Amino acid sequence: MRFVYERAAATGRVAFVNGTVEQLLTTGGGEGSRVTGARLREGGRVLSADLVVVAAGAWSPQLVDLSSQVVATGQVLAYLDLTEDEQAQLGHRPVLMNISTGLFVIPPRDRVLKVARHAYGYLNPQPLAHPPLGSPPSVSPGSDSNPVVVSTPHTHLTDPDLSIPAEGVAALREALRRIVPLPELHDRPFARTRLCWYTDTPTADFLVDYHPRWPRSLFVATGGSGHAFKFLPVIGGRVVDCLLGRRPTDLGPKWRWKEKGPGQAMAARPTEAAHNAVVGTSDGSVIVTEDGSRGGRPGLILEEELKR
Ligand SMILES: Cc1cc2nc3c(=O)[nH]c(=O)nc-3n(C[C@H](O)[C@H](O)[C@H](O)COP(=O)(O)OP(=O)(O)OC[C@H]3O[C@@H](n4cnc5c(N)ncnc54)[C@H](O)[C@@H]3O)c2cc1C
Repeated sequence: MRFVYERAAATGRVAFVNGTVEQLLTTGGGEGSRVTGARLREGGRVLSADLVVVAAGAWSPQLVDLSSQVVATGQVLAYLDLTEDEQAQLGHRPVLMNISTGLFVIPPRDRVLKVARHAYGYLNPQPLAHPPLGSPPSVSPGSDSNPVVVSTPHTHLTDPDLSIPAEGVAALREALRRIVPLPELHDRPFARTRLCWYTDTPTADFLVDYHPRWPRSLFVATGGSGHAFKFLPVIGGRVVDCLLGRRPTDLGPKWRWKEKGPGQAMAARPTEAAHNAVVGTSDGSVIVTEDGSRGGRPGLILEEELKR
């Protein structure tokens, strides 16, 4: 990411502003309304723009109502410290993934082994201080009694004591036993754990399109679904193609904003808990990624699993 940043900075054509967007701004709610920019948390500074592009990963649903499009899901991973000898034994193995369980092990570097699970993930429904842009009119802006609730990333950056649920620990132990051929590692304590946040779509296709309500002033590039990083060297060009109306034909409708309708892989209700947590679409369904590669169980609620 530093390399890409330096390349972009070297063009001299990009003005970088570090800050956290608190809210997107519009000219009003009626016909012909435009998205005009963003207000930053830092000092309330307003950035104005002819076109606003939201590419905030798993945080995107906090800024724009994406309840019919994407959902943030937390995925477990852990690190183990190795000896030099163990590093030498495992360092040249490929990435190994069990596509039936989603469990995978990354070959170690610098004596650190990474084990993780590509899963349906945990939902973390939280009330938002500001309703995301485009929330249904029934949601009164800023209402404390009826806040918008969306699945929201919970990371060690804001909670240094964050651990991972016992259910996730058990899965990662299973991965070590099944995938790593060194028995001395199977019960070695984790050096540290992380919850990483995916931005999941029903089919794991990205969401790269203009917002249907603001088709000239708001563009969304998100929905990484756990596999966007590998496209880093090429994805910028494709995003610009979509932005300029030159959507590559082989992408067809894949990256488009999905209209709700019969046949869309928009998820049955995975669990009562997930449904009750009001994470998901206004009709009560919850997005579940069915791309054939996910392990774990759909609809687990992070807070509940952490208490078990
Ligand atoms: C555990 C794990 C393993 C993964 N493994 C792989 C893999 O092997 N291969 C692969 O291809 N992909 C992998 N991925 C997925 C990949 O990391 C994501 O798909 C990719 O990073 C998504 O890119 P993005 O630009 O949409 O979002 P991000 O990379 O999350 O970027 C979003 C940015 O927006 C910023 N932001 C958020 N909110 C705001 C705000 N309000 N104001 C300002 N800025 C904001 C964030 O700080 C962040 O810098 C993995 C993800 C996880 C969690």
